[in-house]
Amino acid sequence: MDPESLVQCPFDGSHRVRASRLPYHLVRCERNHPQLARSLATCPFNARHRVPQPELRRHVTECPDRRHGTAQRTPHVTPSPPAPPLTCAPPIVLCPPPIALCPPLICAPH
Ligand SMILES: [Zn+2]
Ligand SMILES: [Zn+2]
Repeated sequence: MDPESLVQCPFDGSHRVRASRLPYHLVRCERNHPQLARSLATCPFNARHRVPQPELRRHVTECPDRRHGTAQRTPHVTPSPPAPPLTCAPPIVLCPPPIALCPPLICAPH
């Protein structure tokens, strides 16, 4: 989408906003229309798209961002790199377990 093209604010049909400014506008406008904001669904392909809940199904079939492979359905989590292979052996326990050093008579609670 042309970032300079004007798009209609989903909260107020009289608002025409530059596409590049829409995210900021939505944040502000959302506060002015909390009821409406709740009834709007966010497009899974583009978080800037707010459409009425009943129209979401239709929108996702027609969403212009659908074909660009910019699906935002999956959250942006960078997979954590695989843990480095263990190169060193676990520390060797040289000492016997403490219980062996401690005769039961001394250790026994009084
Ligand atoms: Zn607006
Ligand atoms: Zn969309």
